[in-house]
Order: sequence, then C-alpha cells, then structure tokens
Amino acid sequence: MAATRKIDGFDGEVVVAGDARYDEARVIWNAMHDKHPALIAYCHSSADVAAVVRHARAEGLAIAVRSGGHSLPGHSTCDGGIVIDLRGLNSIEIDPTARRARVGGGALLGELDVATQEHGLIVPAGVVSHTGVAGLTLGGGVGRQMRRLGLTVDSLLGAELVTATGEFVRADADANPDLFWALRGGGGNFGIVTEFEFRAHEIGDLMVLATFNPIEEAPRVLTLAEEIAASAPDELLWTSFLRRAQPQVWLPDEWVGTLGVVSLIEWSGADLDEGRRVLAGIAERLAASVTSIEQVPFLKMQTAGDELFGHGKRSYVKAGYLAALSPEAIEALIEVASDVSSEFSQVEVLGVGGAITRVDAEATAFPHREAAWLINIPASWVDASEDEREIEWARAVYRAIEPLMTGGAYANFMGDDEDDGAATAYGPALDRLRRVKSAWDPDNVFRLNQNILPINEGKPI
Ligand SMILES: Cc1cc2nc3c(=O)[nH]c(=O)nc-3n(C[C@H](O)[C@H](O)[C@H](O)COP(=O)(O)OP(=O)(O)OC[C@H]3O[C@@H](n4cnc5c(N)ncnc54)[C@H](O)[C@@H]3O)c2cc1C
Repeated sequence: MAATRKIDGFDGEVVVAGDARYDEARVIWNAMHDKHPALIAYCHSSADVAAVVRHARAEGLAIAVRSGGHSLPGHSTCDGGIVIDLRGLNSIEIDPTARRARVGGGALLGELDVATQEHGLIVPAGVVSHTGVAGLTLGGGVGRQMRRLGLTVDSLLGAELVTATGEFVRADADANPDLFWALRGGGGNFGIVTEFEFRAHEIGDLMVLATFNPIEEAPRVLTLAEEIAASAPDELLWTSFLRRAQPQVWLPDEWVGTLGVVSLIEWSGADLDEGRRVLAGIAERLAASVTSIEQVPFLKMQTAGDELFGHGKRSYVKAGYLAALSPEAIEALIEVASDVSSEFSQVEVLGVGGAITRVDAEATAFPHREAAWLINIPASWVDASEDEREIEWARAVYRAIEPLMTGGAYANFMGDDEDDGAATAYGPALDRLRRVKSAWDPDNVFRLNQNILPINEGKPI
C-alpha cells in the first residue's frame, strides 16, 4: 500500500516510493544499508518534526532520524517506516562575545566549522566535515581538539527537543537536568534534537607532523607513540593509521598503496613555534620514510579527509579502548591489521585522554573517560562481493586485541551486531539511562539507535 503524503501540521516535503527523488532520498553514507522507507519527511521546523512524530505513532510506523546520515550501522534509515530528515534545520547562530553557538539539529560539522571560524572559534567535534553534528554529539563526539577541550558533549550547554509524544522541551543544567545528562552520550534515545547550544572556544592554525613508515617499522612507531603520549601535553594529539597509504599532498606517489603506518601528530597550542620544535623532535625519533611538518589552517585540516571518507562505500566498524599500547597489543594489532585487503580500510590508533579524563565520570552519560587509546577499525570497500572478507578482517583485528581492551565501546563507532549493544556502549551509565528513557520514551518510539530499552522492556533494575 502506498504511503500517504498527508501529514497534519507538516509544511515540509514528503518523498515516497515511486517519486523521481525516492532512490536518491533514501541513500545514507554507508552503502551497506539499502533500505526502503515508506516515506522520507524533509522537515524545516521543529513543528514539522513534531507533526511527523505524531503521524508515525498514529500510523504505527517506525521512526528513523537522519541528520548527517553517517550512522555506520544504518540507524538513520529503515524498511517500511518513516525517515525524519533534519537537513533543513541547519541554521547556525554564533554569539562571539558570549562564545555561544546555536546549531540546528540537521547541521553538518563543516557548516559549524565555517560559521565558528568566521570568529576565530570552534566547537570541538569530529574530523570529517560531512558528518552530522547531531548524531556525533549525542554519542559523545571525539575529534582533533578533544585532548585540549574535551568531547563535544563537554561543550554542550543545552538542547531543544521534540519528545516521543510530539511535545517541545528544553534540556540544560536547570531545565530537565536528567534529560540533559542523558543526551550527553546516550544517543538518539530520548527525543529529536532540533537545536543544540554549545560553548565555543578560540583556536588558531595547527602545526601538523605527517609521516609514513613502512609496516616493518610499525612496532617502533607505536612504541614511541605510547612513550610520548603517556606524558604529552593536551595540545598534542597522536593518531596512527595502519593501512595502505592513500594519495596525500605530502606523500610522494611511489608510496601510494604501500602497507604501513600513516601518523598525524597535531599541535593545537597557541605557541606554534613551540609546536614546531616538539614535532621536529618527534619526527627525528620516528625516522620516517616521508616526513612533513606544516602549519595548517583549522578549516583545511577539518576537510582534509572528506574525499577519502566520502559517501557511497560499504562500511563496517569495530572499536574499543586500550589503557596502554603494550608490546602485546602492538604485536597483535600489527599482525592482523597487516592482512588488510581494501585500500580504504584501516586501524586507527587514536590517543585520547587529556581534558576528557578531567570531567567527572558521572557528570555525563559518556562512560569511557579513562582510556588512553581508542582503537577504531573501520573497514570500507566498494564491491558487495567483498562484504564477508572485509567484515571478517575488522572482526579479526578486534578479536586479536579484545582480551587487552578495557571493555565497552564508543557508541558512535559500533555496528549493530554486538551481543549486548547497550551495555557495551553505555556501561555503568546504563541503569540511569534506562530510568531517563522510561520517563521520556516509555514506548521506545526512538529505537533505531544503540537502543536503551525502557525499564518495563529491559531487565528489572
Ligand atoms: C566518515 C565518518 C567520519 C566520522 N568521524 C567521526 C569523528 O571524527 N568523531 C566522532 O565522534 N564520530 C565520528 N564518526 C561517527 C559519527 O559520530 C556517527 O556515525 C554519528 O552517528 C553520525 O551522526 P550523523 O548525524 O551524521 O548520523 P545520522 O545517521 O543522521 O544519525 C545517527 C543516529 O543519531 C541519532 N540522531 C541523529 N540526529 C539526531 C537528532 N537531531 N536528534 C536525535 N537523534 C539524532 C539517531 O539515532 C540516528 O540514527 C564518523 C562517521 C563517519 C561515517
């Protein structure tokens, strides 16, 4: 039966199967999720969002919420339900004096970066500019400023939401503080955020060391990473990627396709001369085959990965945390990562810590603040015939280091095939999140996410 286009109180556009735009409108970033929603509702206001929520409930249709559409497990689409598309809600207002940013629930990171950088400011968020602010923020938000400024949720001051009953509410430190706590790490379980309010921070150019070492040198690179990161200032961010090198402006063509370690070591302190000195010292010890140290504008850095991580490939992710890059972890990671086939797959060894650890573990719903390293294993490939091989590679890397991990995973770097996804994502925050879920969405209307069952559906607590 064709879906109705008529939604009471809705002023946006509706796309249904058979429309010329339908196939384009149902696409999300990860091509693994080729789903057929009954309708896609393009909202332009919070009133539109509320109208669609009420309509979906009245019709008994599942709701998928889509901002940037980058959900790796495909939670922003569904078969037979309604996709609530928020890209029309992408207005951004900056108050440079108060250093506040009001950001629509459908804005992309690139839009936020451009708007804040006009005033020399940023909101700390992720590293690929076509990612959505909303999904990234609600899961926590890791990025290149996290060691200095914390997670994205640590700069969140408040949010406007449409609830599961189609009401409008605000959540901040004074209004509905439990809901505000849950939004800072608990994902899209509690309502649809139509506007975020963030604290913004000053930032200038970055100093960036980019290196390539062949895979035989990977043990030395990761051992040095552990040694340096253990006492590094917050201004220093270390990321190493075990992968086949992709074309980069700083990388001579002869290395493209070679298996090795690409390291990006970024300095974001105000004193760039000091940054250059620190990075030159690291470069000397890395003795890489290719080394580049460059002063890079923040916006340029934020868009450098856009093409490599572009839309339309097939993807699968596993991730977890390490307290240290021990010799056993380094050996296990390198051995299995070296079996990589796809030129787009990689193991990211991402130094966390810093300001993240200085926020009280119970202040927000994000539970993984103590780890030193986030190991993210995003497999990406083009051809569906390679699905099994690539997924198995990511799982094998994960299995190899799982015994050494601290437990749990970052909700935004998870698939939907964990044995107990909610416990993995939310850990010690889960019981309180369940209570908040029971108060705001007892019927589990918002369930296409790393889902927190309300108390009456979950185990008794
Ligand atoms: C290329 C790429 C790069 C990435 N880089 C980073 C990174 O640097 N740092 C990082 O932390 N993560 C990163 N991620 C992971 C990213 O945070 C998640 O994929 C996140 O869900 C993306 O948000 P989105 O709005 O684009 O996704 P969507 O697919 O639109 O939404 C994902 C889920 O978020 C919820 N949601 C979305 N919008 C709303 C809303 N307005 N209100 C309520 N719930 C909502 C829904 O549950 C939805 O299913 C990256 C992912 C990709 C694919």
